[in-house]
Amino acid sequence: MSRYILERLEKFEPYTVGEQPKDNGYIKLNTNESPYFPSEYAVGAINETLLKNLRLYSDPESSELVKAIADYYEIKTQNVMTANGSDEILAFAFAGLCGEGAVFPDVTYGFYKVFAGLFGVAFDEIPLKEDFTVNTDDYLNVGKTVVLANPNAQTGIYLPLTEIEKIVKSNPSSPVVIDEAYVDFGGESAVSLIGKYGNLAVVRTFSKSRSLAGARVGFVMADERLIDDFKRVKYSFNPYNVNGVSALLAANAIKDEQYFKSCTDKIISTRGRLISELELLGFKTLPSLANFVLAEHSETDGKTLYEKLKERGILVRRFGGGRINNFVRITVGSEEQIDALLKAVKEIIK
Ligand code: PMP
Repeated sequence: MSRYILERLEKFEPYTVGEQPKDNGYIKLNTNESPYFPSEYAVGAINETLLKNLRLYSDPESSELVKAIADYYEIKTQNVMTANGSDEILAFAFAGLCGEGAVFPDVTYGFYKVFAGLFGVAFDEIPLKEDFTVNTDDYLNVGKTVVLANPNAQTGIYLPLTEIEKIVKSNPSSPVVIDEAYVDFGGESAVSLIGKYGNLAVVRTFSKSRSLAGARVGFVMADERLIDDFKRVKYSFNPYNVNGVSALLAANAIKDEQYFKSCTDKIISTRGRLISELELLGFKTLPSLANFVLAEHSETDGKTLYEKLKERGILVRRFGGGRINNFVRITVGSEEQIDALLKAVKEIIK
């Protein structure tokens, strides 16, 4: 660190990304990417003209992509804004929409706390219940921006839409940001509520269910006025935030419903098998509606499990130190990847 860094950022812990090894030998079940390739229909549209057009700045409004998203969710284009991954949307929310501070669960996506630190937002971490579910009452009338991942990050537990609506309804003076990075794997989206509540922002990504993590495309759906607020932040920071190649990939990916459905169906089915096999092996798993499973074994600690899996060429994620210290988070990969994981787990715990 140099002496030039802001004092506020001196003691600040930036986000630790999951390992991204250069060597492709690992079975990567650590960052909730899709095991399946992006839609061929989407990739097929990349041509030379598009690449040559990279000499020009991209469309700051990503108009075609916004139109494709609006058509898909049957909302107006004024209700959508795109960004460089949903992380950027979340950053904009913390930068511009947390005037009274923010609240989020103690176990959730680690970036919320990091963004709060970066932008100097005061925050409260609200403990999840003993069983790692969200207690809706904790989020009623809080007078601060509510940020909830649904399904929740790390746990995979989904909060029913009726509960989300109670939270949104009880906080008319504060934005409620619902991060639906994992909702396509079995949850119901809150997008149906945006016409009803001006304070709701639904954040989505192309990184997980649409196999485009590397393209970096995310978006937010909300009331027109809230979208205008997001745009104020975006146009004060990085107007050309989505490049033309990624925008086209995403616009075509969202049109390829059949492929999307086949990928999410496979992941949902593999998740079911992963959970039942882990439980047969004596693991405790949390009821996930995401593309990952948080699991703990009473006789092998999380750190050992993580390390021994890595020795066997399998990467999972572990969040040491807190309430989920003893758990490992396993991304739902392909059937073959999960076979390899289960085989390795059997060797380790026997
Ligand atoms: N929200 C949650 C809950 C996540 O787990 C992630 C992925 N790490 C993101 C947002 C960010 O995804 P991306 O920036 O790739 O859209």
